[in-house]
Amino acid sequence: MAWSFRKKREVPAGLWTKCSNDVCGKMVWGKTLAENANVCPECGHHMKIEARRRLEMLLDPGTFVGVGEDIQPTDVLRFSDGTEGYEQKLKRTAAKGHATEACVSGHGRLGGRPVAIAILDFSFLGGSMGVVVGERVALAADLALEDRMPLLVVSSSGGARMHEGTLSLMQMAKTSAVIARLRAAKLPFLSILADPCTGGVSASFAAQGDVTIAEPGALIGFAGPRVIESTIRTTLPDGFQRAEFLVEKGFIDRIIDRRKMRDELIAILAFLAPMPDTPLLAVTVGAPPPAPEPEPPPAKSKDKAKDESKGK
Ligand SMILES: [Zn+2]
Repeated sequence: MAWSFRKKREVPAGLWTKCSNDVCGKMVWGKTLAENANVCPECGHHMKIEARRRLEMLLDPGTFVGVGEDIQPTDVLRFSDGTEGYEQKLKRTAAKGHATEACVSGHGRLGGRPVAIAILDFSFLGGSMGVVVGERVALAADLALEDRMPLLVVSSSGGARMHEGTLSLMQMAKTSAVIARLRAAKLPFLSILADPCTGGVSASFAAQGDVTIAEPGALIGFAGPRVIESTIRTTLPDGFQRAEFLVEKGFIDRIIDRRKMRDELIAILAFLAPMPDTPLLAVTVGAPPPAPEPEPPPAKSKDKAKDESKGK
């Protein structure tokens, strides 16, 4: 008997993507997925998406101007995980994708309104926050302060970057400080949490939004559920740390489908920050009321006034 082997037809990489929702797991045509903002058309699961693509989806076309792009990470601690040094890891990661760091920041327009924006990119070392990410988020907040614009930050991150040790933890304080300055200046900060948003990012600026928004199904928390379960020795409820659970508990204000995010952000900003050519509501509301006219001092006899001034 003669055996005939038929050559297996190979599917080019990237044409089909498997839905990352375990319950669904359907194969989705790449073009369909891209047109649907990386949301599975079968089950609505929000898959990860690159920061640049998010920018295109959120901002008015052609309005984005980046800041801090020349700030690049350095291996100050000469960190190695035993198999690879941090510097090699950075080079290898940058060569794989389009991003040179885990955050893109700058300013642009959203529905015609000037906004400062920072977007964390999970595809670059899990969106982890090192010195550059912290600096780029702070730069976006500085832009907001300088030009009195609202700040939008989309966070998708595993937390602090272990390769930068304490320096990465310092970014929690740094970003929180600049958000506090925004608050003092009465400028709105919209924090958008995408899957996953955990560790030092969820425990710093990402949790400090005036309005906290999450994408459907996003995992949001500080430590993972397994760590918590083993620490407090109890079984956690279903859906713990998911956006739907957290919106019920009041940690999140609103869950918004990625495909409607731009329109909803425009609507929210219309409440919080009027267009620059109209009087700023935030300033009017936040400004102290005019000081009352001082009452004239009661008439005193000349001798009594002299005694008082001597006593001082
Ligand atoms: Zn699916």
